[in-house]
Amino acid sequence: MPSPVQYSLKGKTGVITIDNPPVNALGHAVRAGLVAALDQGLADKQAQALVLVATGRTFPSGADVREFGKPPLAPILIEVIERFDNAAKPIVAAIHGTALGGGLELAMGCNYRVAVASARLGLPEIKLGLIPGAGGTQRLPRLLGPEAALAMILSGDPIPAAKAKENGLIDAVIDGDLEAGAIAFAESVAATRPLPRIRDREDRIKSADRALFPARRAELTKTAKHLAAPERAVAAVEMALDLPFEEGLKREREMFLALLETPQSKAARHQFFADREAARVPGIAADTPTRPVKSAAVLGAGTMGGGIAICFANAGIPVTILETDQAALDRGLAGIRKNYDGLVERGRMKPAERDARLARITGTLKYEDLAQADAVVEAVFEDLAVKKDVFRKLDAVARPGAILATNTSTLDVDDIASVTKRPGDVLGLHFFSPAPVMKLLEVVRGKATTPEVMASGMALGKALGKTAVPVGVCFGFVGNRIMLRYALEAELLLEEGALPQDVDRVLRDFGLPMGMFGMADLAGVDVFYFIRQHELKNRPQDAERMPQILDKIAQAKRYGQKTGAGFYRYEGRTPAPDPEIEALILEESKRLGITRRKIEDDEILRRCVAAMVNEGARVLEETIAYRPSDIDVIYIHGFGFPAWRGGPMFHADTVGLPKILADIEEFHKRFGARWKPSELLVKLVKEGKSFASLQGR
Ligand code: NAD
Repeated sequence: MPSPVQYSLKGKTGVITIDNPPVNALGHAVRAGLVAALDQGLADKQAQALVLVATGRTFPSGADVREFGKPPLAPILIEVIERFDNAAKPIVAAIHGTALGGGLELAMGCNYRVAVASARLGLPEIKLGLIPGAGGTQRLPRLLGPEAALAMILSGDPIPAAKAKENGLIDAVIDGDLEAGAIAFAESVAATRPLPRIRDREDRIKSADRALFPARRAELTKTAKHLAAPERAVAAVEMALDLPFEEGLKREREMFLALLETPQSKAARHQFFADREAARVPGIAADTPTRPVKSAAVLGAGTMGGGIAICFANAGIPVTILETDQAALDRGLAGIRKNYDGLVERGRMKPAERDARLARITGTLKYEDLAQADAVVEAVFEDLAVKKDVFRKLDAVARPGAILATNTSTLDVDDIASVTKRPGDVLGLHFFSPAPVMKLLEVVRGKATTPEVMASGMALGKALGKTAVPVGVCFGFVGNRIMLRYALEAELLLEEGALPQDVDRVLRDFGLPMGMFGMADLAGVDVFYFIRQHELKNRPQDAERMPQILDKIAQAKRYGQKTGAGFYRYEGRTPAPDPEIEALILEESKRLGITRRKIEDDEILRRCVAAMVNEGARVLEETIAYRPSDIDVIYIHGFGFPAWRGGPMFHADTVGLPKILADIEEFHKRFGARWKPSELLVKLVKEGKSFASLQGR
């Protein structure tokens, strides 16, 4: 196989070209090829300077993540970079696309960096629970000063070429052909001696203000208290000020390798792959043709309909919203305008942009106005009869080939599809509230949904900027079904002895942004109550008793933040424990004849987690979710599950399935049928397997 790195002489400049599609990842063959090409360039008497450039979409943007966790194959990147750094001829890195992670570290091992104006440069390792491990934390502070370097390393976000030129990360922005521009630049510096090397730069670190480090550490105790990598990043950059370069490089590598082994980094890498995997629908070929969506319609201009219309408008897709009467339509459109005005007021959107987006949204009361739409999303009341009526009318007017979607949370997509003459064109697009903000979209595959329509739903989700995850039909689909089970467990804990603030504190300590009850208050206790009523209708008669605390709070019209009281009392958005709720809970325990007991934090956590995992396993067993990683993606993007724990199923694997199953069996004995262990979970434990073993099925 030819090497993915080639050397050629162009005039007086040797050009090293990386050609490793699709993204020129720095895998083993590239690393070996870089060393060989460099040797060639250094040996080439004609070449006075060297240029390092990449073909295709981008300059290398990191290590090949598939090599993570495997024994490193020499030469490792840090050795390659050392070779470049020690070379006796000037080397110019010529950057287009993105230079990220190991790619930027390689570029910083060169004497000069030039880039096209559209290029972006960054060190995103922090997003994988890591710090740069090939000199990034030692070279970047020498180049930019510790403050700017740390900001880049801690955010992980890339900066555009213009900014990089301004702060000194690159030496020139190249207009026109990059390679030609880089060669011209190389010719202009070919005679410069001594060769400028970032490792020799001391000016920026000598003059640095050390107060930066305690200040950043103090911030991190608030913003990243659960995370190891940000603190290590601060320590590594601080090292650049204190240690000789070689020593700093060695210590950086040790820190990087230690982080690589942490569950946090493993979880972050799991999420990286899980997000990509979610885009694949089992049984549907990746090249299945999708139906283009150039115009859309939304039925219902309430909370969700308005939000979904905004999603279309934001994606540049004109959208018509249908309502039952003018007053409701006006209310809906006013809500949409208010949403955009809010963004403008907060300086997040220019007025002209708001106007352009608003211009894409039209209201109507007539079904005929939906006839041209390529995709229609229904978001009317959660009532089967209403939805069926709407779908019949829609079926009569929608153009052949239109994608017909329902945003139902609890109703049967197959049932809804059955009233149309084209159930194959019907699917669920389950947005989460607030729709313009929440990344998650469950794409619900009905019994009749054709592969083409399913693939189109996934593609539409992507076009709307969502993380689309395919799911099957059941009550609550994947996200809400699992959430309802653990919400129920949280409520049972209240009956037995805990208070909302106890449960919520434990869940927040675990890493969730809010506890269960804080979340219910935010989403609306009435919404949970409404869903529970639907759930009860779907339950077999002999199912376990349901707690009634939530019902009673909803019946008292304590709907949460929006009414100033729910499971907590609110001053603004700050929750405070409420004696009235405590009294209500104690009363419930009494009514049920339960002697309240002190429930340890450990039990609260084990019950909430085990409830989620057992339900998650059932969802897999029933193929409502296709892969454990899909559940993780849903929980991270839709329910604030801590990404550094990798999602509930990955977390279960990390804890160990035998331990989770032991918890479930214990609770099954103590609390009854609700805790029946999932057969899939039992099978996995018996076979000594993990959820991860089910990936790729
Ligand atoms: P909502 O009450 O805020 O809005 C419903 C709107 O539909 C109202 O404006 C109403 O006038 C309109 N409507 C009712 N019947 C209609 C008809 N026949 N034709 C046209 N319009 C009609 O409700 P919502 O919270 O926006 O929920 C809408 C749907 O989205 C429901 O199916 C719900 O389950 C689902 N959903 C809600 C959430 C959430 O958090 N609110 C999240 C995901 C999905």
